Amino acid sequence: MSEILEFVDVSKHYGAIKAVDHVSLSVKQGEFFSLLGPSGCGKTTLLRILAGFEQPDTGRVILGGQDVTDLPPYERKVNTIFQSYALFPHLSLWENIAFGLKVAKRPKKEIKEEVDKMLALIQMEDQAWKKPDQISGGQKQRVAIARALINKPRVLLLDEPLAALDLKLRQRMLIELDLFHDEVGITFLYVTHDQGEAMSLSDRIAVMSHGSIEQLGTPAEIYEAPRTSFVAAFIGDTNFFDGIVAGPLQKHSPFGGTRPVPVDKEYSRLIIGDLPDLECYNDKQIKEGERIFLSVRPEKLRISREPPKTAPHLNVIEGTVEDVIYLGAQTKYWVKVGAYRISVIQQHSRFLLDEIPIKWQEHVWLSWHADDGFMLEKYDEQDENLILTPPEEVGETMEDVPIAVAASEEEYRGDSAAEVPVS
Ligand code: ATP
Repeated sequence: MSEILEFVDVSKHYGAIKAVDHVSLSVKQGEFFSLLGPSGCGKTTLLRILAGFEQPDTGRVILGGQDVTDLPPYERKVNTIFQSYALFPHLSLWENIAFGLKVAKRPKKEIKEEVDKMLALIQMEDQAWKKPDQISGGQKQRVAIARALINKPRVLLLDEPLAALDLKLRQRMLIELDLFHDEVGITFLYVTHDQGEAMSLSDRIAVMSHGSIEQLGTPAEIYEAPRTSFVAAFIGDTNFFDGIVAGPLQKHSPFGGTRPVPVDKEYSRLIIGDLPDLECYNDKQIKEGERIFLSVRPEKLRISREPPKTAPHLNVIEGTVEDVIYLGAQTKYWVKVGAYRISVIQQHSRFLLDEIPIKWQEHVWLSWHADDGFMLEKYDEQDENLILTPPEEVGETMEDVPIAVAASEEEYRGDSAAEVPVS
């Protein structure tokens, strides 16, 4: 796949705020690519720079091999979908979809053919003459997508397009978006703060924080091998253990005994506060004495009433169950181990009613393989609110948790009414 879009060292400041900080990335032709990050991390600014509504302070934007940095919005072949649809209320759905081709003065026959194709794609042929206020939110979003796709943009920009829809509709629209993307073969650049949306739709994701890209990779790469503690905390749940690398492990001897055995540089021993020493695969070769976070995802931990069978590189700790949340397909446990409250997810692969489930206040063993944890750098204090500490008691509020302030939609959309129909 060739590259359709490149940001080359793009930066944008608003006064003292670094909205985008030296971002370089490229998107391949036909890819479903997501910019994912918390509110205020710079996703929308990057999209606006691509659409031509913001000028970067530094850097270039290359679209379809052409440097478009200094081109006005209407000369870039991109279209944007917003969460608020921005349909023309006085026009029918048919006319809304036809708008871009009419502005481009395409022949009537072509316009009819293309609009009919788009109505078939979104399966709304029988509603073509309705007005936007006669259809549901999900249908409006489908029309907005059809209206954008008809212009055959090089890249379709989608800025939190599902944010205004309720949960069920959002789940349905996720599948539809995926189908539209497969059907039309156009590159989608999707902006969201919702990791579930990004994970389920994207070929690749760029995780952003404070205007920079923290990690770029496939959903599985980002989830299974987060490169920073910010990514580990933002994508899915994780447990963090605060520790120090205490050097390499001695190799496990199959013969036992006390004879000295060579060290195993692939694994390190970690000293973690009042927990027993733990083992972790040290692919980054982090040196002895370094302070790290050991990150272990809740589903990588096993919970049992009996101590697990010892095995090479198996970490085992004991604790007391503090909370049990039955979720149908799985149960979530919170287990107190020393100063830590550890989250564990256990899948129900067997008929649960035949078993005696682990209950509140039981003494349990937690275990995980050293390969299933990651050593990461300690996160920034500003990112601390991403690591959601569960409430300690019923009724505890999140009032003190700082929430990043987002630009208002009007502020963001600015001249968007003019953006919509033009490609
Ligand atoms: P959200 O999901 O809330 O829209 P985002 O990741 O898209 O967040 P941006 O909207 O790109 O983030 O904003 C990045 C930073 O730049 C934020 O701190 C924001 O307040 C600031 N910012 C964005 N637009 C402007 C503007 N026109 N004037 C001043 N500051 C701005």
